[in-house]
Amino acid sequence: MANSENDTIAAISTPVGEGGISIIRISGDDAVKVAQRIYKGKDLAKVATHTINYGHIVDPDTDQEVDEVMVSVMRAPHTYTREDVIEINCHGGLLATNRILQLVLSFGARMAEPGEFTKRAFLNGRLDLSQSEAVMDLIRAKTDKSMKVALNQLDGDLSRLIRNLRQDILDVLAQVEVNIDYPEYDAVEEMTTKLLKEKAEDIQQRIQSLLKTAKQGKVLRDGLATAIIGQPNVGKSSLLNSLLHEDKAIVTNVAGTTRDVIEEYVNVNGVPLKLIDTAGIRDTNDQVEKIGVERSRKALGAADLVLLLIDSSNELTDEDRQLLEATKDKQRIIILNKTDLPRRVDLEELKSLAGKSAVIETSIVNHEGMDQLGEQISNMFFNEGIESNQNNVMVTNARHIGLLHQANDALSDVLKGINDGMPVDLVQIDMTRCWELLGEITGDSYQDELLDQLFSQFCLGK
Ligand code: GDP
Ligand code: ZN
Repeated sequence: MANSENDTIAAISTPVGEGGISIIRISGDDAVKVAQRIYKGKDLAKVATHTINYGHIVDPDTDQEVDEVMVSVMRAPHTYTREDVIEINCHGGLLATNRILQLVLSFGARMAEPGEFTKRAFLNGRLDLSQSEAVMDLIRAKTDKSMKVALNQLDGDLSRLIRNLRQDILDVLAQVEVNIDYPEYDAVEEMTTKLLKEKAEDIQQRIQSLLKTAKQGKVLRDGLATAIIGQPNVGKSSLLNSLLHEDKAIVTNVAGTTRDVIEEYVNVNGVPLKLIDTAGIRDTNDQVEKIGVERSRKALGAADLVLLLIDSSNELTDEDRQLLEATKDKQRIIILNKTDLPRRVDLEELKSLAGKSAVIETSIVNHEGMDQLGEQISNMFFNEGIESNQNNVMVTNARHIGLLHQANDALSDVLKGINDGMPVDLVQIDMTRCWELLGEITGDSYQDELLDQLFSQFCLGK
């Protein structure tokens, strides 16, 4: 049977921050019926909606008990998917969880596709498109801060902002419409053009400031690609270990790639760093690491941020100078390590080679300077380079970013049209296109709606 959009679906949906409890979620018309087949306890068809019921999961074929569970019954329409939803909370570990899912699938539900619960929430009108996407991001969120961005978006901050923009465009279009209706006034044409120009500039500026947040948002989701470099023995492995151990690193196997590709994420003061080439730092003994500088150069290409270590207890070497030169155009922090030992480095020379880059003094073995390093990283990320933005909304989704770019282009066309003295009704077309593109972000761009709204405003205006 082909997957349909209203059959009953099920999946393990254990929340982020997995603990001892797992949840099997079932959604659809038959959700209660399916659960009842494998559940011993109250009659789920009769319990009140939004209740949690104690009982046991029992295999009806063998009468064998699988797990002790709490079953939540939530009837449509006040549920996540707006369908009947059952959630089976079990605590018997992976084996029991899988066994229960199998039972659910044998007694009338089918396996949900990835994101299918959310898709249903969208199709049933529970979430708008950007909110649905925020849920997807939430599932992938890797740090607290990116979690917050996803949650804000879920709250509809981005949707609200986009809707305000669209409303403003609609107001202009309606006003232009009214003006065109009264061609007997000479000044009208000029007024209309002036209004269009002002509004287009204002809206374009707001879109551009949203676009500025895109880079930051992407980093929050994907991690700031960070290279730890420096000559052999300077303390790279020590720094890596210190970051990994002190800041609760998240080590993930990247899905769909070979097993030995490992990305390491570490959360430094709210900034997720994706550490590059850590295998190289981990596994080398220092004999192999004679090629350290070459390796460092390679890691540089992909890096958003460079942490360059210099040994404070030695004079600067040619390798140090080469690395300082090779990274001078990068966002970098220079870490002057081993400050617990007598200083031999020429600080004046180092500072002049460092240019505008911050130099942070550390003694990694003594855990000194790590706080300053963390502050420097978050300061570079949150305060420098990226402007603070309206309402803390960040655009993190590639589709949204693409649409915002197109909307921005449409407004450039509006402004060019006005400058070239194009007739107002032609300029209007580009303005309308901008409105439609923005609507695709929230999923409510329909020509009919434009006409309806224009019509209602037009009448109000008269
Ligand atoms: P790598 O070759 O750059 O990875 O350097 P390692 O992290 O392996 O460190 C080389 C040696 O320097 C090790 O013996 C570390 O214990 C030592 N080391 C690292 N950081 C410091 C520090 O801040 N002070 C001192 N005295 N020794 C350090
Ligand atoms: Zn090492």
